[in-house]
Amino acid sequence: MIRYHAPWILPINEPPIRDGWIAVDRGRVAATGRRAPADDADAVDLGEVVVLPGLVNAHTHLELSYLRGAVPPSAAFITWVRGLIAARRQGPDPRAPEVLAAIDDAISDVIASGTAIVGDVGNTLTTFGPLARSPLAAVVFYELIRFNAPDPEAVVEQACREIDTLVPTDRVHASLAAHAPYSVAPLVFRAIRRAVDREPFAPCSVHLSEAAEEVEFIRSGGGPWRALLQELGSWDPAWVPPGGTPVQFLDDSGFLDARVLAVHGVQMTDADLRRLVARGTPLVTCPRSNGQTGAGAPPIEDFYRSGVRVAIGTDSLASAPDLNLFAELATMRALAPGVPAAALLDSATRQGARALAFDGAYGTIEPGKYARLITVAVPPGTTDVEEYLVGGIQPEQVRWVE
Ligand SMILES: [Zn+2]
Repeated sequence: MIRYHAPWILPINEPPIRDGWIAVDRGRVAATGRRAPADDADAVDLGEVVVLPGLVNAHTHLELSYLRGAVPPSAAFITWVRGLIAARRQGPDPRAPEVLAAIDDAISDVIASGTAIVGDVGNTLTTFGPLARSPLAAVVFYELIRFNAPDPEAVVEQACREIDTLVPTDRVHASLAAHAPYSVAPLVFRAIRRAVDREPFAPCSVHLSEAAEEVEFIRSGGGPWRALLQELGSWDPAWVPPGGTPVQFLDDSGFLDARVLAVHGVQMTDADLRRLVARGTPLVTCPRSNGQTGAGAPPIEDFYRSGVRVAIGTDSLASAPDLNLFAELATMRALAPGVPAAALLDSATRQGARALAFDGAYGTIEPGKYARLITVAVPPGTTDVEEYLVGGIQPEQVRWVE
């Protein structure tokens, strides 16, 4: 048993503890409390820091790490996507050494900036091995993109077979994801849903209501998305536009529930957000990526006002300058000055862990959970430590509690 002292402890599930202690036994939190004058002198003093749970990056694409800086920022999402497609086509094979090296570097950066868990989306399963060898916990989402699918069941069954060849660890396992309503056929969505339902606790993920082009395509069947699908040879002439919003479409198809991470939500209406609340569907916001891809600024205050469970992701290095979740928090604070810092920090820890089904062991500092804890150096005289943490923390300030 080791006891740590710190000026601030942020358990997340209860208010910050001023001048507190944490007892850790064999890698798990045993107890927390406020320091008393008679406390043992042999406790480890962590210095002028706040202790909090390792953060959760609920949406990234580590396999795209080699594209750092390769896709120009755009004012229109469709233009950004064209840039991404071009960069991936010109780029190396998904298993090329430079791709693997970029994944390893990205994992190191994720850990150095205080993240304990990632929701990692990929079109290959290349990141599974590097993640399994790292100290991170992760759900690796094998993401399907298939708008024109003559045999939707076969597409999904093939993906399930590939997932079955992986050996899950107690921290890293794989599941399925659908790319987005404009790039996945309705019957592929159904087949993914059925496959996910066979696994008791597997989460699933989908990019949803990210940009205006998606909203137009689902409502009318036209616009720049249709043009791009036709150009790519992926158009399905039998497809009928569902009308309504992307959230309505997926909800009416029975796709949305508490296990599906709805990523982005920039274009969601209040009615869309109410549907997510009703289904228990968590929303993952990635505001820096939205700014770079032309999706626009997410309505973060609306998210929190609606009561939806908000988690946070950085998205990939193709659309974000780094994978530091604290930087994402700073952008959220700038976009949503009215949301309490405690709510933003809850999103960065407990809500992310819950969305990825890791909340039994991570996301708060509570007896029985893993002591995957970080410290952040705090300047003397700081009075509101939660507000300080959402103001832009650099990796140099972060240490893991060993
Ligand atoms: Zn994404």
